[in-house]
Amino acid sequence: MRKLHLRKKTIDKLPGYELRIRDRNLTIQDFLCEVNDFFENAELPRLWPQGNHNCYGCDLCCHEPLPVSSIDVEQICQATGSIFSQAFKYLWVETQGNIIDITLRRRRDGSCIFLRKDSTCSIYQYRPFLCQTYICCQTSPEMEEVRSTIVNQGMDELVRKSLLLFNSRGLELPVNKGNKKYIKIGDWKKNKFSGKSSYSDILIKDILPSDLMRHLLL
Ligand code: SF4
Ligand code: SF4
Repeated sequence: MRKLHLRKKTIDKLPGYELRIRDRNLTIQDFLCEVNDFFENAELPRLWPQGNHNCYGCDLCCHEPLPVSSIDVEQICQATGSIFSQAFKYLWVETQGNIIDITLRRRRDGSCIFLRKDSTCSIYQYRPFLCQTYICCQTSPEMEEVRSTIVNQGMDELVRKSLLLFNSRGLELPVNKGNKKYIKIGDWKKNKFSGKSSYSDILIKDILPSDLMRHLLL
């Protein structure tokens, strides 16, 4: 039996989908596998290239800022044969006060650094969580909350891990835009992403707020 229940649903009069969780022990990797399978097979009408029922030949959403988690960066390292500190050449670090955002680096035209000229992704098997869980259709608020909760915690750990790494070498976090003076390593605490290098190692129930988890369980 599937661990996640995904089904088409009209939301605000537009085609979309919603989700429910069947298995309390769903990992983030299980979630990704089920979502990938659903996007591949459900023939959901895409809203941006109207009339399409799949993503082939389209790359519009690969021109948007794409926040990443610590595990996304581990996967980018695997895909590119890099060590963790080298992965920053594929990342963009921006600060605002004591807030740090880390996204995939983009070219001058706004395209993702991993986007090929033929509109395919050069790290497709290793692409980040947010890439794997997005298609341009209406999405239930619960799905949006699941996506943002996971990536926010994953990015917090990415910031913590990066600050620790650069500090241990007597270096500063490479910041591409913004000021470094408000960044304090103590502002980032360990969380469920800490020490994990695979989405298979993290249970969704350990990440989501308990009321959202209860609401989503079938
Ligand atoms: S990693 Fe791949 S799928 Fe994600 S935005 Fe970049 S090119 Fe697109
Ligand atoms: S999800 Fe992205 S790649 Fe797929 S059809 Fe929509 S804009 Fe294009």
